[in-house]
Amino acid sequence: MIKTWELDPSFKYEIMKEPGGEHITSCYQCSTCTIGCPITELVPDYNPRKIIQMSLLGMRNEVLTSPDLWICLICQTCTARCPQDVRISDLLGAIRRIAEKEAEAGKLKIDSSRPLFDKAFQHQLEKHGRLYDMGLAMEYYPKKEGSFISGMKAMMKDYKDFGMRMFKKGKMGPKAMLPVKVKDRTVIKKIFEEMGEK
Ligand code: SF4
Ligand code: SF4
Repeated sequence: MIKTWELDPSFKYEIMKEPGGEHITSCYQCSTCTIGCPITELVPDYNPRKIIQMSLLGMRNEVLTSPDLWICLICQTCTARCPQDVRISDLLGAIRRIAEKEAEAGKLKIDSSRPLFDKAFQHQLEKHGRLYDMGLAMEYYPKKEGSFISGMKAMMKDYKDFGMRMFKKGKMGPKAMLPVKVKDRTVIKKIFEEMGEK
């Protein structure tokens, strides 16, 4: 049930100030984004149009604590099809950034391990200039599970099914134990410096 006195009408303006959130008010709720979203095949209740509508209504707390905020694969199908150029995946990224800032300030709890994964992914790019799968797994799983041992157990469980495929491609196993670094990482360093400033 929506309680009108709990709505925050300024939430959409807060989103518009974040890079990627500028076009939220152009949405006219046609649902084209949701109809074409591949995630809905696996999670039928996932609905990016609804997230946008809730944001426009000012349901700030419900949006920022929704696990659905973290499901988007950033495949850009919705962005390509939206008749209003809303750029939905960028918009979801803008809302996620607000949620992360609120979580860092201790004002809410994020119901997803995606921020941990995204940060671990980003650290690998920053350090090596390219993805280092072992480094990603070794950083992500212990943080997600709260300890190194539990993290390794969770990693083994997750990798049980597709580990052999990764092994065959050289992404796991002895050949993949050490990172292959990009030689000249000055451009990468610059990109991360500029990202940090923003
Ligand atoms: S496709 Fe664009 S205009 Fe239509 S509901 Fe999605 S974001 Fe809104
Ligand atoms: S970018 Fe995200 S919301 Fe849009 S279609 Fe892809 S998975 Fe769905």
